[in-house]
Amino acid sequence: MRARAEDLRRDGRRIAVVPTMGALHDGHLALVRHARARADIVILTLFVNPTQFGPTEDLSRYPRDEVGDLAKARPAGIDLAFCPPASAMYPAGAQTFVEVRDLQQPMCGASRPGHFAGVATIVSKLFNITLPHLAVFGEKDYQQLAIIRRMVRDLDFDIEISSVPIVRESDGLALSSRNAYLTPEQRTAALALSRGLAAVETAFRAGERSSAALLAAARAPIESESLARIDYVELRDADELTPFATTVDRPAVLALAVVVGATRLIDNRVLE
Ligand code: AMP
Repeated sequence: MRARAEDLRRDGRRIAVVPTMGALHDGHLALVRHARARADIVILTLFVNPTQFGPTEDLSRYPRDEVGDLAKARPAGIDLAFCPPASAMYPAGAQTFVEVRDLQQPMCGASRPGHFAGVATIVSKLFNITLPHLAVFGEKDYQQLAIIRRMVRDLDFDIEISSVPIVRESDGLALSSRNAYLTPEQRTAALALSRGLAAVETAFRAGERSSAALLAAARAPIESESLARIDYVELRDADELTPFATTVDRPAVLALAVVVGATRLIDNRVLE
């Protein structure tokens, strides 16, 4: 892969990479189209990264469909796909990890210890292998995007990071490979996430700036859904991910993780 990327760079081609764990849906394809419009060569990576899964998480049952993924990605405009086996990415003896110290602590980092070190490490490795000028990520994984932006800045990666807004089903549910785990009943219950975000947005637009009141507005529709259990609902500075003491006086992100049945779903809304 790197030899191909080096050749393409030598020929003056602008390379974009779209890192994914596969089980592609329209959210991923929006990333591919975004990359297609901004680069000469689009590389899709498909890799279910074991180091970002905790010991009790869904690594073994995470949906995998490489053939189906490539069939969807080709018409969306990829030139190359990089689908390495785990043994190639983590040969025996690998012991170096990338950590973005503060941004990785709260929210998903608190619920999933080690998750973001796994993410930052695999993204660094994929950058070093695919040699992109541009890398495209979704805003659905808001904390991940913040971490990667900071990592690129801190470690002097010469790579532009570009983001794509959250792609949703028509009823508001954010697309996710994990939605495939939901029963029809759980699928309906999962709408509590986007209802919570809609409630907080309505309150914010009406002028509410109390952090506690905005958090309460987001929690109410989720707490009234019996199949949903809140992992976290947080309102934080949009860049630094620090909490607000009382009043929201800077751009903010309302981020949430909710477990529906056994499936953990995340979503977010920027308030500014
Ligand atoms: P994943 O395969 O879930 O690790 O996601 C790969 C990339 O797709 C990440 O940059 C995600 O943020 C992005 N992504 C996943 N779901 C969505 C969505 N519904 N809308 C936009 N981007 C998404």
